[in-house]
Amino acid sequence: MSAVIRHDWTREEVLALFDLPFPVLMQRAGAVHRERFDPSEVQVSTLLSVKTGGCPEDCAYCPQAARYNTGVDATKLMSTDEVLEKARAAKAAGASRFCMGAAWRSPKDRDIPKVAEMIREVKALGLETCATLGMLKADQAVALRAAGLDYYNHNLDTAPDFYGDVIKTREYQDRLDTLGHVRDVGMKTCCGGIVGMGESRAQRAGLLQALANLPAHPDSVPINRLVQVEGTPLKGTALLDPFEFVRTIAVARIVMPASMVRLSAGRAEMNDELQALCFLAGANSIFYGEKLLTTGNPDVDADRALFERLGLRPMEVVQESNTVHADIVAPATASCAA
Ligand code: SF4
Repeated sequence: MSAVIRHDWTREEVLALFDLPFPVLMQRAGAVHRERFDPSEVQVSTLLSVKTGGCPEDCAYCPQAARYNTGVDATKLMSTDEVLEKARAAKAAGASRFCMGAAWRSPKDRDIPKVAEMIREVKALGLETCATLGMLKADQAVALRAAGLDYYNHNLDTAPDFYGDVIKTREYQDRLDTLGHVRDVGMKTCCGGIVGMGESRAQRAGLLQALANLPAHPDSVPINRLVQVEGTPLKGTALLDPFEFVRTIAVARIVMPASMVRLSAGRAEMNDELQALCFLAGANSIFYGEKLLTTGNPDVDADRALFERLGLRPMEVVQESNTVHADIVAPATASCAA
């Protein structure tokens, strides 16, 4: 019998999963994974930063925040032609989903038609589309959906009780409101968080509890491991034990059994063995490509070699009329897509 989709997880229940002996947790997560997914398939997305840096927010992990001296230069919004060139290359490299990320607090109304054009054109290539543009108003969500946007990424980042240690320029509720606008127009949600920011295990459990207790489980759940960037306040944070990261993946799989759980930022710093453990724990989605917004990502050849060694294959996109679906999912990075 399939694991039940629940929205009433308590912090204690989620924490109890974290506390299981590692082999027991892995076995349980693997069983949940196999109920709904073929464990030999991994969904592959590509993320492009269409507007980098200069962000007014203060997310303490993010090299794109203008207030931190990280060496990331602010750019203007890319042209649709530039985006299309990257999207074609991503498709040729095997990506089924293309995510466009912009370092905005929220898009201005005048930005929406430009992004809508990108979405239409990328979708016309036969790719699933995803965007991460910051907070959205209800009418902006409507316009993006009308352009054919399949997924919107907006992360909760961390547990509500740790959030204020990381971000002060927007509230947890702002994030929940944006996710609500996205769901209201029928777009799929991509929503996860970042671990290794100095939070406790109970707070990692709190993040997964908050995600699982959303009105609908996110279709994609990016789990990022903090990439410590020089110049950001979180540089120098104690490193998270790799097994604790794997536990986080496994618990995410158990509490959100039908979601795509994505290995996102931080993968470049993971060896093949650690990534393999994450796949065993129920991760079934990765970002593929050169860069995850502004931090490195394993190159495509290394990913292909890893898939080959592990006998994994990219999940196929299923085309239905003019909509591209997948039994799949989408994005994450800094945290806008992190
Ligand atoms: S994570 Fe997003 S909102 Fe936060 S500073 Fe970076 S680009 Fe801005």
